Amino acid sequence: MSRARGLLLFSGGLDSLLAGKVLQAQGIEVWAVRFITPFFHWGWRGREEEFDRLMREKYGFRGIVRDISEEYLEMLKAPPHGYGSAANPCIDCKILMLRKAREVMSEVGADFLATGEVVGQRPMSQRRHIMRHIEKEAGVEGILLRPLCAKHLPPTEPEKKGLVDREKLYDFRGRGRKPQMRLAREFGITDYPTPAGGCILTDPTIGERILRLLELRGGLSVREAELALLGRHFVEEGFWLVVGRKEAENRRLAELARPEDRLFKIRGVPGPTGLLVEGQGDLEKVKEILKRYTPKARDLSEVELEEFRERS
Ligand code: SF4
Repeated sequence: MSRARGLLLFSGGLDSLLAGKVLQAQGIEVWAVRFITPFFHWGWRGREEEFDRLMREKYGFRGIVRDISEEYLEMLKAPPHGYGSAANPCIDCKILMLRKAREVMSEVGADFLATGEVVGQRPMSQRRHIMRHIEKEAGVEGILLRPLCAKHLPPTEPEKKGLVDREKLYDFRGRGRKPQMRLAREFGITDYPTPAGGCILTDPTIGERILRLLELRGGLSVREAELALLGRHFVEEGFWLVVGRKEAENRRLAELARPEDRLFKIRGVPGPTGLLVEGQGDLEKVKEILKRYTPKARDLSEVELEEFRERS
Protein backbone atom coordinates (compact mmCIF):
# COMPACT_ATOMS: atom_id res chain seq x y z
CA MET A 1 0.00 0.00 0.00
CA SER A 2 1.38 3.43 -0.91
CA ARG A 3 2.10 5.95 1.83
CA ALA A 4 -0.49 8.57 2.65
CA ARG A 5 0.42 12.00 1.39
CA GLY A 6 -0.38 15.28 3.16
CA LEU A 7 -0.11 18.75 1.66
CA LEU A 8 1.14 21.15 4.32
CA LEU A 9 0.62 24.90 4.10
CA PHE A 10 4.13 25.90 4.99
CA SER A 11 4.63 29.40 6.34
CA GLY A 12 8.20 28.76 7.41
CA GLY A 13 7.40 29.30 11.09
CA LEU A 14 7.94 26.68 13.75
CA ASP A 15 4.28 25.61 13.95
CA SER A 16 3.92 24.58 10.33
CA LEU A 17 7.29 22.85 10.48
CA LEU A 18 6.21 20.89 13.56
CA ALA A 19 2.88 19.97 11.94
CA GLY A 20 4.86 18.49 9.03
CA LYS A 21 7.23 16.67 11.35
CA VAL A 22 4.34 15.16 13.37
CA LEU A 23 2.89 13.73 10.15
CA GLN A 24 6.25 12.57 8.87
CA ALA A 25 6.83 10.72 12.16
CA GLN A 26 3.76 8.63 11.29
CA GLY A 27 5.28 7.67 7.94
CA ILE A 28 3.19 10.18 5.97
CA GLU A 29 4.77 11.80 2.93
CA VAL A 30 4.72 15.58 3.42
CA TRP A 31 4.52 18.06 0.57
CA ALA A 32 5.01 21.63 1.73
CA VAL A 33 3.38 24.39 -0.30
CA ARG A 34 4.50 27.97 0.09
CA PHE A 35 2.23 30.65 -1.32
CA ILE A 36 3.80 33.87 -2.44
CA THR A 37 2.42 37.37 -2.97
CA PRO A 38 4.21 40.74 -3.00
CA PHE A 39 3.44 40.88 0.74
CA PHE A 40 4.94 37.60 1.89
CA HIS A 41 7.57 35.11 0.72
CA TRP A 42 8.12 37.18 -2.46
CA GLY A 43 11.80 36.34 -2.41
CA TRP A 44 10.92 32.78 -3.54
CA ARG A 45 9.51 33.95 -6.86
CA GLY A 46 11.24 32.04 -9.66
CA ARG A 47 13.12 29.81 -7.18
CA GLU A 48 10.77 26.80 -7.15
CA GLU A 49 13.48 24.19 -7.64
CA GLU A 50 15.62 25.69 -4.92
CA PHE A 51 12.68 25.59 -2.52
CA ASP A 52 12.03 21.92 -3.31
CA ARG A 53 15.72 21.12 -2.78
CA LEU A 54 15.82 23.03 0.50
CA MET A 55 12.70 21.26 1.80
CA ARG A 56 14.08 17.83 0.86
CA GLU A 57 17.52 18.40 2.32
CA LYS A 58 16.50 20.20 5.48
CA TYR A 59 13.26 18.48 6.45
CA GLY A 60 12.67 15.52 4.16
CA PHE A 61 9.54 17.21 2.69
CA ARG A 62 8.84 17.97 -0.95
CA GLY A 63 8.51 21.70 -1.64
CA ILE A 64 6.14 23.59 -3.92
CA VAL A 65 5.95 27.36 -4.51
CA ARG A 66 2.75 28.92 -5.86
CA ASP A 67 2.34 32.56 -6.80
CA ILE A 68 -1.20 33.65 -5.86
CA SER A 69 -0.59 37.39 -6.29
CA GLU A 70 -3.32 38.08 -8.85
CA GLU A 71 -6.10 36.46 -6.86
CA TYR A 72 -4.71 37.92 -3.66
CA LEU A 73 -4.72 41.49 -4.96
CA GLU A 74 -8.25 41.01 -6.29
CA MET A 75 -9.39 39.85 -2.84
CA LEU A 76 -7.47 42.67 -1.09
CA LYS A 77 -9.61 45.31 -2.84
CA ALA A 78 -12.62 44.39 -0.71
CA PRO A 79 -12.11 41.38 1.55
CA PRO A 80 -15.59 40.08 2.50
CA HIS A 81 -14.51 39.59 6.13
CA GLY A 82 -12.74 42.95 6.34
CA TYR A 83 -9.23 43.93 7.40
CA GLY A 84 -7.50 43.31 10.72
CA SER A 85 -5.56 45.99 12.58
CA ALA A 86 -3.86 47.25 9.38
CA ALA A 87 -4.39 46.10 5.76
CA ASN A 88 -4.27 42.40 6.70
CA PRO A 89 -7.36 40.53 5.50
CA CYS A 90 -6.52 37.49 7.66
CA ILE A 91 -9.76 35.53 7.35
CA ASP A 92 -10.04 35.95 3.58
CA CYS A 93 -6.31 35.39 3.23
CA LYS A 94 -6.68 32.01 4.92
CA ILE A 95 -9.75 31.13 2.88
CA LEU A 96 -7.90 31.96 -0.34
CA MET A 97 -4.81 29.99 0.65
CA LEU A 98 -6.88 26.95 1.57
CA ARG A 99 -8.83 27.17 -1.71
CA LYS A 100 -5.58 27.30 -3.63
CA ALA A 101 -4.16 24.48 -1.50
CA ARG A 102 -7.22 22.38 -2.41
CA GLU A 103 -6.26 22.81 -6.07
CA VAL A 104 -2.62 21.89 -5.43
CA MET A 105 -3.77 18.90 -3.39
CA SER A 106 -5.52 17.39 -6.42
CA GLU A 107 -2.52 18.21 -8.62
CA VAL A 108 0.00 16.38 -6.45
CA GLY A 109 -2.35 13.57 -5.44
CA ALA A 110 -2.35 14.43 -1.74
CA ASP A 111 -4.92 12.76 0.52
CA PHE A 112 -5.50 15.74 2.82
CA LEU A 113 -4.36 19.22 3.80
CA ALA A 114 -2.53 20.22 6.97
CA THR A 115 -1.63 23.45 8.73
CA GLY A 116 0.32 24.33 11.85
CA GLU A 117 -2.59 26.26 13.33
CA VAL A 118 -3.32 26.02 17.04
CA VAL A 119 -6.78 26.74 18.44
CA GLY A 120 -6.91 30.06 20.27
CA GLN A 121 -3.42 31.12 19.25
CA ARG A 122 -4.41 34.24 17.37
CA PRO A 123 -7.15 36.62 18.43
CA MET A 124 -9.43 36.31 15.43
CA SER A 125 -8.65 33.76 12.78
CA GLN A 126 -7.76 30.89 15.14
CA ARG A 127 -10.91 30.91 17.25
CA ARG A 128 -12.66 27.60 16.92
CA HIS A 129 -15.86 28.81 15.27
CA ILE A 130 -13.90 31.03 12.87
CA MET A 131 -11.64 28.13 11.95
CA ARG A 132 -14.75 26.13 11.07
CA HIS A 133 -16.20 29.02 9.07
CA ILE A 134 -12.90 29.38 7.15
CA GLU A 135 -12.90 25.65 6.32
CA LYS A 136 -16.44 25.83 5.05
CA GLU A 137 -15.85 28.90 2.90
CA ALA A 138 -12.71 27.35 1.44
CA GLY A 139 -14.46 24.05 0.69
CA VAL A 140 -12.01 21.99 2.75
CA GLU A 141 -14.30 20.71 5.51
CA GLY A 142 -13.18 17.32 6.74
CA ILE A 143 -9.95 17.25 4.73
CA LEU A 144 -8.04 19.86 6.71
CA LEU A 145 -6.01 18.40 9.55
CA ARG A 146 -4.32 20.52 12.22
CA PRO A 147 -1.88 18.08 13.79
CA LEU A 148 -0.87 20.36 16.68
CA CYS A 149 -4.39 20.82 18.04
CA ALA A 150 -6.33 17.97 16.38
CA LYS A 151 -7.42 16.53 19.71
CA HIS A 152 -9.51 19.63 20.40
CA LEU A 153 -11.27 19.29 17.05
CA PRO A 154 -13.61 16.68 15.56
CA PRO A 155 -11.83 13.83 13.71
CA THR A 156 -11.13 14.60 10.06
CA GLU A 157 -11.51 12.27 7.07
CA PRO A 158 -7.85 11.17 7.02
CA GLU A 159 -8.15 10.21 10.69
CA LYS A 160 -11.44 8.36 10.11
CA LYS A 161 -9.95 6.50 7.16
CA GLY A 162 -6.95 5.44 9.21
CA LEU A 163 -4.44 7.39 7.08
CA VAL A 164 -3.48 9.38 10.16
CA ASP A 165 -3.30 8.04 13.71
CA ARG A 166 -5.24 10.50 15.87
CA GLU A 167 -3.57 9.16 18.99
CA LYS A 168 -0.26 10.53 17.77
CA LEU A 169 -1.60 14.04 17.19
CA TYR A 170 -1.53 16.85 19.77
CA ASP A 171 -3.81 18.97 21.91
CA PHE A 172 -2.01 22.31 21.96
CA ARG A 173 -4.14 25.34 22.66
CA GLY A 174 -3.73 29.07 23.20
CA ARG A 175 -0.84 31.45 22.88
CA GLY A 176 1.78 29.74 25.02
CA ARG A 177 4.82 28.49 23.11
CA LYS A 178 6.22 25.99 25.60
CA PRO A 179 4.60 22.85 24.10
CA GLN A 180 5.94 23.80 20.65
CA MET A 181 9.43 24.39 22.06
CA ARG A 182 9.32 21.02 23.79
CA LEU A 183 8.18 19.25 20.63
CA ALA A 184 10.87 21.04 18.61
CA ARG A 185 13.48 19.67 21.03
CA GLU A 186 12.05 16.17 20.64
CA PHE A 187 12.45 16.45 16.87
CA GLY A 188 15.93 17.92 17.26
CA ILE A 189 14.87 21.15 15.58
CA THR A 190 17.05 24.00 16.74
CA ASP A 191 17.15 26.58 13.97
CA TYR A 192 13.70 27.92 13.38
CA PRO A 193 12.46 31.47 12.97
CA THR A 194 11.07 33.19 16.07
CA PRO A 195 7.29 33.54 15.97
CA ALA A 196 7.44 37.08 14.58
CA GLY A 197 4.28 38.99 13.80
CA GLY A 198 2.88 37.92 10.45
CA CYS A 199 3.20 39.55 7.07
CA ILE A 200 3.93 43.12 6.05
CA LEU A 201 0.21 43.87 5.68
CA THR A 202 0.02 43.98 9.47
CA ASP A 203 2.55 46.83 9.59
CA PRO A 204 0.66 50.00 10.58
CA THR A 205 2.55 52.38 8.24
CA ILE A 206 2.53 50.10 5.20
CA GLY A 207 -1.03 49.04 5.98
CA GLU A 208 -2.28 52.61 6.07
CA ARG A 209 -0.49 53.33 2.80
CA ILE A 210 -1.98 50.32 1.10
CA LEU A 211 -5.50 51.12 2.27
CA ARG A 212 -5.07 54.70 1.00
CA LEU A 213 -3.81 53.49 -2.38
CA LEU A 214 -6.69 51.03 -2.64
CA GLU A 215 -9.15 53.78 -1.82
CA LEU A 216 -7.71 56.15 -4.44
CA ARG A 217 -6.96 53.62 -7.19
CA GLY A 218 -9.61 50.97 -6.62
CA GLY A 219 -7.00 48.19 -6.66
CA LEU A 220 -3.29 47.47 -7.06
CA SER A 221 -1.35 45.58 -9.72
CA VAL A 222 1.53 43.32 -8.69
CA ARG A 223 3.99 46.08 -9.65
CA GLU A 224 2.07 48.71 -7.70
CA ALA A 225 1.97 46.44 -4.67
CA GLU A 226 5.75 46.04 -4.91
CA LEU A 227 6.10 49.82 -5.15
CA ALA A 228 3.88 50.30 -2.11
CA LEU A 229 6.48 48.48 0.00
CA LEU A 230 9.35 50.77 -1.00
CA GLY A 231 10.38 54.29 -0.02
CA ARG A 232 8.29 57.29 1.00
CA HIS A 233 4.95 57.85 -0.68
CA PHE A 234 3.15 61.07 -1.55
CA VAL A 235 -0.32 60.12 -2.63
CA GLU A 236 -3.38 62.18 -3.32
CA GLU A 237 -6.09 62.28 -5.95
CA GLY A 238 -4.28 62.24 -9.32
CA PHE A 239 -0.77 62.23 -7.84
CA TRP A 240 1.55 59.43 -6.72
CA LEU A 241 5.26 60.01 -6.16
CA VAL A 242 7.55 57.41 -4.58
CA VAL A 243 10.87 58.64 -3.18
CA GLY A 244 13.72 56.21 -2.42
CA ARG A 245 15.18 56.24 1.08
CA LYS A 246 18.44 54.49 0.24
CA GLU A 247 20.48 53.52 -2.77
CA ALA A 248 18.97 50.03 -3.09
CA GLU A 249 15.47 51.56 -3.14
CA ASN A 250 16.53 54.14 -5.74
CA ARG A 251 17.75 51.29 -7.96
CA ARG A 252 14.61 49.25 -7.44
CA LEU A 253 12.39 52.24 -8.27
CA ALA A 254 14.27 52.66 -11.56
CA GLU A 255 13.75 48.94 -12.30
CA LEU A 256 10.04 49.11 -11.55
CA ALA A 257 9.44 52.23 -13.72
CA ARG A 258 7.21 51.65 -16.76
CA PRO A 259 7.86 53.63 -19.97
CA GLU A 260 5.03 56.02 -19.07
CA ASP A 261 6.38 56.71 -15.55
CA ARG A 262 8.95 59.45 -14.96
CA LEU A 263 12.12 59.29 -12.86
CA PHE A 264 13.63 62.41 -11.31
CA LYS A 265 16.36 63.61 -9.02
CA ILE A 266 17.67 67.04 -8.09
CA ARG A 267 20.30 68.07 -10.66
CA GLY A 268 23.94 68.26 -9.69
CA VAL A 269 23.77 66.86 -6.14
CA PRO A 270 23.55 63.34 -4.76
CA GLY A 271 20.08 62.51 -3.57
CA PRO A 272 17.05 60.24 -3.78
CA THR A 273 15.20 59.11 -6.86
CA GLY A 274 11.58 60.12 -7.25
CA LEU A 275 9.35 57.86 -9.33
CA LEU A 276 6.30 59.73 -10.55
CA VAL A 277 3.61 57.14 -11.19
CA GLU A 278 0.73 59.56 -11.53
CA GLY A 279 0.44 63.34 -11.86
CA GLN A 280 2.69 63.72 -14.89
CA GLY A 281 2.31 67.50 -15.11
CA ASP A 282 2.82 68.41 -11.47
CA LEU A 283 6.57 68.88 -11.56
CA GLU A 284 6.71 71.80 -9.10
CA LYS A 285 5.34 69.50 -6.44
CA VAL A 286 7.86 66.79 -7.39
CA LYS A 287 10.69 69.32 -7.13
CA GLU A 288 9.55 70.62 -3.77
CA ILE A 289 9.31 67.07 -2.31
CA LEU A 290 12.66 65.91 -3.73
CA LYS A 291 14.39 69.07 -2.51
CA ARG A 292 13.10 68.33 0.99
CA TYR A 293 14.71 64.86 0.95
CA THR A 294 17.98 65.88 -0.76
CA PRO A 295 20.21 67.17 2.08
CA LYS A 296 22.61 69.05 -0.22
CA ALA A 297 19.76 70.85 -1.94
CA ARG A 298 17.78 71.96 1.10
CA ASP A 299 19.61 75.27 1.57
CA LEU A 300 19.88 76.14 -2.11
CA SER A 301 17.53 78.90 -3.23
CA GLU A 302 17.11 77.49 -6.74
CA VAL A 303 17.18 73.83 -7.74
CA GLU A 304 16.36 72.03 -10.97
CA LEU A 305 14.85 68.65 -11.58
CA GLU A 306 16.81 66.19 -13.68
CA GLU A 307 14.79 63.56 -15.50
CA PHE A 308 16.47 60.26 -16.37
CA ARG A 309 15.56 56.75 -17.49
CA GLU A 310 18.19 54.66 -15.78
CA ARG A 311 20.39 55.65 -12.91
CA SER A 312 24.09 55.51 -13.90
S1 SF4 B 1 -0.96 37.93 8.79
FE1 SF4 B 1 -0.86 38.21 6.55
S2 SF4 B 1 -0.34 36.16 5.76
FE2 SF4 B 1 -1.08 35.88 7.86
S3 SF4 B 1 -3.26 35.48 7.62
FE3 SF4 B 1 -3.05 37.66 8.00
S4 SF4 B 1 -2.99 38.57 5.95
FE4 SF4 B 1 -2.56 36.37 5.71
